[in-house]
Amino acid sequence: MTAHVSIPELGLDSVALDPPLFDPAAFLLSEEEAALAGKARAMGRAIFAARAAAYDRDATFPTENYRDLHKAGFLGICIPKREGGLGADYRAYSICAAEIGRYCGATALTWNMHVCSTLWSGPLVDDLEMEPAVRAEHERGRAIHYRRIVEEGAIYAQPFSEGGAAAAGGAAFETRAEPVEGGWRVNGKKIFASLAGYADYYGVLATEQAGGEAPSRRNTLYLAIPSRAEGVSVVGDWDPLGMRGTVSRTLLFRDVFVAEDHALMPRGVYFQAATRWPHMFLTLSPTYMGLAQAAYDFTVKYLRGEEPGTPPVKRRMYPTKQIAVAEMRVKLEQAKALWFQAVSEARPNPSKEQVLRAYAAQFSTMETANDLARLAIRSCGGQSMLKALPLERIYRDSRCGSLMLPWTAELCLDRIGREALYEPGESDE
Ligand SMILES: Cc1cc2nc3c(=O)[nH]c(=O)nc-3n(C[C@H](O)[C@H](O)[C@H](O)COP(=O)(O)OP(=O)(O)OC[C@H]3O[C@@H](n4cnc5c(N)ncnc54)[C@H](O)[C@@H]3O)c2cc1C
Repeated sequence: MTAHVSIPELGLDSVALDPPLFDPAAFLLSEEEAALAGKARAMGRAIFAARAAAYDRDATFPTENYRDLHKAGFLGICIPKREGGLGADYRAYSICAAEIGRYCGATALTWNMHVCSTLWSGPLVDDLEMEPAVRAEHERGRAIHYRRIVEEGAIYAQPFSEGGAAAAGGAAFETRAEPVEGGWRVNGKKIFASLAGYADYYGVLATEQAGGEAPSRRNTLYLAIPSRAEGVSVVGDWDPLGMRGTVSRTLLFRDVFVAEDHALMPRGVYFQAATRWPHMFLTLSPTYMGLAQAAYDFTVKYLRGEEPGTPPVKRRMYPTKQIAVAEMRVKLEQAKALWFQAVSEARPNPSKEQVLRAYAAQFSTMETANDLARLAIRSCGGQSMLKALPLERIYRDSRCGSLMLPWTAELCLDRIGREALYEPGESDE
């Protein structure tokens, strides 16, 4: 029986849902997780799916989707309930992002950047060590951001990448924050800054560096820089292969003054988070889990002759099609099982096995999404990859997953191999 969900805030009455990515009974989801995931799926199917083609074609930001996410409370999904949010934890959020990714990859991926500003400054930081006074000050500061998001629909981006070794974790960020009276003066450049020109705040990672001090990763600051601050500019164009609606243009910061209360984490805490809470870097994967499911769902519908807008010719009687679908299903189940396990294990100080599993989950999700899209096109045929249908967009969007630093597909393999063969401190010298 098809389940239905209503979202009165969006005027949605009894939306017929697609089957869940993670069946609540099979995956033992909490009632809250199942309800949030159902709402995400309803928004995706009833609203975002129909808008996705235009954002992709024009490489424009999904502004309308963000208005709807705000109305439904989803901009504050990880903000604690006592502060007006929906209070979702890491796993509940990840499942919702995967559900949205099924219908619009660019919305899910940019939403991830926004949500992480609250997830990292909230539930994740709550697990880390801080002096009580520092924690109290942090809670006071983040409440200002949370209020803006919940009440005004403020949007936060997460531009870290600079084109050098920093985003992969290999060096200090070249964007520098020089301490000055009441805050910092920030100078630097961020490339591939999703939501550039659309976010209200840019959650920037910068190296705090006074005078002749040597840059150190330990001194990484996480600052919310207002997009309208003097010295902030968006440059370059954005005309990529996939994830076109992310509008990931280049950001420049020239002598931008950032006040002390704009820090999204206290001093030293980002470094602590990156080393003690590594699953923080797995949050780019849910979008691609959703795309993997979308490629599979499309194929089944198409071969059954049920995909709207396609010729009503059934192709399911050919053994090659059945084998292709079987192969896709096996790969999808493998990726889903591993991803769900890794997402369920997100916590501070994970074991070595859990960290290796998280890398494996990231690798497998990113690569499987594109592999399923490839198999979908091969099996469904030429008419399936016309731009009127979502499959070719899924194919292009899914190709981007393996490129997301710091856990690109290559770097995941690199880390798994090294960390499996060497214990910390070991060498062959
Ligand atoms: C659609 C999209 C949206 C994005 N949005 C954001 C965003 O909002 N914020 C943000 O900060 N970034 C974002 N990124 C950027 C992304 O994380 C990368 O920084 C970006 O793709 C540029 O990286 P590159 O492949 O040119 O990097 P390079 O550093 O040139 O790396 C090239 C390849 O070399 C490998 N490599 C890199 N370093 C090492 C190493 N030390 N050892 C071995 N191999 C290595 C990696 O596999 C990488 O794929 C986005 C990217 C895409 C595609």
